[in-house]
Amino acid sequence: MRLPQSGGNIFIKMTESYLSERAKKAEKIIDTPENYKICEGCDSIVTERVATCPNCNGYRFDASPEAVILQAKTLATREQTSVIAQDLL
Ligand SMILES: [Zn+2]
Repeated sequence: MRLPQSGGNIFIKMTESYLSERAKKAEKIIDTPENYKICEGCDSIVTERVATCPNCNGYRFDASPEAVILQAKTLATREQTSVIAQDLL
């Protein structure tokens, strides 16, 4: 599942660059957004099965696939100003 517009070229360039590991994770998230949700406390992407955020212990999440995809792209195409929860595991 992919969004039709928005930054496709940038995303592909990033997969070839030093951000490739992060981008691969993001790609996986974008392919299966229903398995993830976004913490409303710290904007991290966490797996759908967690009850509380591993980063900030928040318990409010946005589980809409559109929001997950957008956030995954955002995280993949910028430097580490935010963290995908898996990075900490
Ligand atoms: Zn959080």
